Amino acid sequence: MLKTHLKTDRARTHVGRISKFGLLEMTRQRVRPSIEYTSYEPCKYCQGRGITPSVETLALRFLRQLQVDSLKEKHACIRALLPPDVAFYLLNKKRKEILEIESRRDCGILIEAQPDMVPGESRLLFE
Ligand SMILES: [Zn+2]
Repeated sequence: MLKTHLKTDRARTHVGRISKFGLLEMTRQRVRPSIEYTSYEPCKYCQGRGITPSVETLALRFLRQLQVDSLKEKHACIRALLPPDVAFYLLNKKRKEILEIESRRDCGILIEAQPDMVPGESRLLFE
């Protein structure tokens, strides 16, 4: 029943051709690392995926983390260390959100740019 359906359905046959091509691509990807790993290493920014989250995504992710982590204990000051582009995005575009957390948790929040940090990295120091 399924076989006859596949034979008569043109769209399914087309999908079959694409998947054949996909298989070829997969073979190429598998061979490449073994050759390249001798002189290259995985990209530290994207872990080899080829794409990284946008600055906005990283900033929003950090704000959520800050909301949760600032709840755990009472602190007078929280220092947030972030890659420069994420730090500047927060300071310029998310001032209101940071102020809200400061008044809700009754603490000061310092956003500090760390030039040596890569996208996705962040550190909170509670003081
Ligand atoms: Zn990369």
